[in-house]
Amino acid sequence: MAAHAPVPMVDLREQYQSLKGEIDASLADVLDRTHFIMGENVGAFEREAAAYLGAAHAIGCANGTDALHLAMLALGLGPGDEVITTPFTFIATAEAIAYVGATPVFVDIDPRTYNLDIARVEAAITDRTRAIVPVHLFGMPCDMDAVGALAAARGLAVIEDCAQSFGATIGGRQSGTLGDIGCFSFFPSKNLGAFGDGGMVTTDDDALADKLRVLRSHGSAVRYHHSVIGYNSRLDEMQAAILRCKLPHIDRYNAERRRVAARYETRLGDLPLRLPPLTAPDGHPELSPVFHQYTLLSSRRDDIMAALKAEDIASAVYYPIPLHRQEAIAGHLTGEASCPVAEQTCERCFSLPVYPELADATIDRIADVVRRAIA
Ligand SMILES: *Cc1c(COP(=O)(O)O)cnc(C)c1O
Repeated sequence: MAAHAPVPMVDLREQYQSLKGEIDASLADVLDRTHFIMGENVGAFEREAAAYLGAAHAIGCANGTDALHLAMLALGLGPGDEVITTPFTFIATAEAIAYVGATPVFVDIDPRTYNLDIARVEAAITDRTRAIVPVHLFGMPCDMDAVGALAAARGLAVIEDCAQSFGATIGGRQSGTLGDIGCFSFFPSKNLGAFGDGGMVTTDDDALADKLRVLRSHGSAVRYHHSVIGYNSRLDEMQAAILRCKLPHIDRYNAERRRVAARYETRLGDLPLRLPPLTAPDGHPELSPVFHQYTLLSSRRDDIMAALKAEDIASAVYYPIPLHRQEAIAGHLTGEASCPVAEQTCERCFSLPVYPELADATIDRIADVVRRAIA
């Protein structure tokens, strides 16, 4: 029997092939101009991304981790400050809090969305709390109306971690435009991916935008005049050129990811699995997820993943350990975090391949393997 081609978690080759002419030409143009640092493409991409998102300012930086770090610095967070976030996220969310010497305070997640459970946040607020960092995990946006209302009532800043949510909307508005600062990553496998590292911060606040621009470039607004100790965290010109080629297609890419999720649901909906919601769960405003990952829950996760592996189909566990249980974070906690939902989720979650080019026939084959594994 002819073997099927292996199915990866994400296939970046097809997307590049479909835009190859345009991307190669724009890279050749960068090489011709030799304006490699803060060239025309960085400025143009910042304007185009700001227009797409509906943000007053979009400021490129070196990666998504730096975006979060720059946001913490621009808001003046530091030692003694508590920052509330989710334990079910990539480590970078908490690393950025630790970089500035602030204390991460982990609040448990909503089992339906895998996102920070806003209803539990209020009880975690102390007189040291300065900010909330909601993460739009796996491309499912957080209920930013609820976050915004709580933050306004308690005088807290909001930093959105949008690394996995480029193009996701909340009541028609883009993630990254609903807090004080939005933080994006263009890591190659993200929904809008560069061909190397890249990141961006967004804000509507002119003063914060000025601070962010200065911080990302050696604390300097005027060349060789340094007002503060800053960083070397610029978006690379070649990455900006590639991102400009891809940005016009992001809505289509995200629609294709929703197609994949909808097809998984029709093929897996009758099985004893917890599938991610295709739209907002009850009681949430209109949320449009962009399925950076398609993440399910099953007590038979290991059986399913073994069956997939036997068929050369990738699957992965995002994330096996909640952040409050990570060795690196232990020394940064002030108390014992209690996040049983996140812990149970880490024990049962696994993700199936999802990318815009994933064919219906391949989705059906993946679903059949999952079905047989738990039959
Ligand atoms: C990828 C990611 C980051 C970090 O982005 P990098 O560009 O890899 O530094 C931060 N937060 C979340 C939730 C991520 O998925």
